[in-house]
Amino acid sequence: MKRLDGRYALVTGGSTGIGRAIAIRFAQEGANVAINYHSSGEEAELTREEVETACSTIREYGCEEMVVQANVAREDDVQAMFARVLDAWGRIDILVNNAGIQKAAPTEDMSVSDYDKVLAVNLRGSFLCAREAIRHFLARGQGGVIINDSSVHQIIPKPTFTPYAVSKAGMGNLTRTLALEYAGRGIRVNAVGPGAIATPMNKAWVEDPEKKAEVESHIPIGRAGTPEEIAAVFAFLASDDASYITGQTVYACGGLTLYPDFRTAWSSPD
Ligand code: NAD
Repeated sequence: MKRLDGRYALVTGGSTGIGRAIAIRFAQEGANVAINYHSSGEEAELTREEVETACSTIREYGCEEMVVQANVAREDDVQAMFARVLDAWGRIDILVNNAGIQKAAPTEDMSVSDYDKVLAVNLRGSFLCAREAIRHFLARGQGGVIINDSSVHQIIPKPTFTPYAVSKAGMGNLTRTLALEYAGRGIRVNAVGPGAIATPMNKAWVEDPEKKAEVESHIPIGRAGTPEEIAAVFAFLASDDASYITGQTVYACGGLTLYPDFRTAWSSPD
């Protein structure tokens, strides 16, 4: 018996990176998966092959898949996305709020529009999807699971990425608040906090060996993580193996949250 046999999952931003790996891992564990994507036009063309291979892998595992377009920052899109999945499958057991973006600029130069865009996708999008999932879980009366894709920047500041760090910190209390509010009604809400993972979001260093080595020099385990390593944590939290865990953020970050600068006792020299 696989851990997610017969469950129905919706993964936002599931066409690339960590979301795609979660979709595939969930199917490997027996879940049927709806993959949400946002991009259109040329960008969608670029990821078309990745989405198609993810879908065929899901089918190879004997699971159903569907692909649903929606901008998670828009209430009407999110409601239409849930309606489409529920029309097709009648149920959703697991929501993964994975869609996320970041914008970099010194804070004194950060535009309001970029600040709002990041908050709208990362935080309002997670709220909107969680709210629809909770409405469905309550109406169905059989509980459900929500897992938020947060970041080490839920707790570690990220200079020049203010809206990203603010959004992920917000995700921490979104997770804890929803967990407490619905713990008595069979709904578990947790988060995963990845460190530096080799995905399209990090293409600036993933494809440049020198920059990659620089990034990895900061990570206690000594290397960037893979999307598959993060997906494994999602699969655990989605499964009944995590039936007594709610309101937690599991950091999968190669030790980044351990204050790596304290590897040596520089503050108390001999
Ligand atoms: P990615 O860019 O491959 O994935 C982000 C996905 O979100 C993309 O598929 C994108 O199309 C989608 N998306 C963006 N805006 C959207 C919108 N408005 N509606 C729906 N989908 C939208 O990068 P990734 O690294 O796989 O990121 C996935 C999540 O993991 C993000 O929330 C990110 O913050 C988080 N994360 C990533 C890392 C890392 O190092 N890669 C570290 C910590 C946290």
